Amino acid sequence: MEKKSIAIDGPAGAGKSTLARQLARALGFLYVDTGAIYRTVALAVLRAGIATEDVGKVSQLLGTLDIRMDYGQDGEQRMFLSGEDVSKAIREHQVSGLASKVSAIPAVRDFLLDFQRRQAREHSVVMDGRDIGTVVLPEADVKIFLTAAPEARAKRRVLELRQRGQQAEFDTILRDIIQRDKQDEQRPIAPLRRAEDAALLDTTQLNLEQSLEALLQLVKEKINL
Ligand code: C5P
Repeated sequence: MEKKSIAIDGPAGAGKSTLARQLARALGFLYVDTGAIYRTVALAVLRAGIATEDVGKVSQLLGTLDIRMDYGQDGEQRMFLSGEDVSKAIREHQVSGLASKVSAIPAVRDFLLDFQRRQAREHSVVMDGRDIGTVVLPEADVKIFLTAAPEARAKRRVLELRQRGQQAEFDTILRDIIQRDKQDEQRPIAPLRRAEDAALLDTTQLNLEQSLEALLQLVKEKINL
């Protein structure tokens, strides 16, 4: 069967990963969380004690990295760094900020481009990130730009972190989200922006179920399922 691809981009906390995962499950596609790949590089940079400003050292480190991705029995994407399962470690708050910084480095984006495209060549995918519709899969069958007001996104992030037993304070999370949006939107390479041919879906007023319904509708308009 011909491989299909669905690109979902948008800012942090818009519900991308939860929705993309559910959409992939509903369609029987592979879910590829590209943020997790950037986070794994960020964790490697952190562990190597390299400052994100030191672009030369980060670029050098890339050549030595052993990053792998696979799917557990539960269908969840897992990330491995030098053989260690780092799926949990990459979700730490500190890694989020670092990932945003590391992902602005051109060498890092080049390094990960092939990695991401390979997944879409081999499988029908729902891929989420910041530049999937614009850079990684410009020929995607469906492109969606998913967004929500910063306050709504911060609220969801707080809940998510607390559910994982992590400490989370609304004001701090909101400030970080706004800061990260700015970083992601203003970087010169692969900035976060809606592809011209991407459908816009604002989930501020929608719950998960309604958002998924809206997503499925957009997909059905483009792909014969
Ligand atoms: O989506 P998530 O919050 O896990 O992504 C972490 C960071 O990785 C983002 O803030 C963004 O800077 C970067 N990223 C990116 N391109 C992608 C996915 C994530 O630059 N395709």
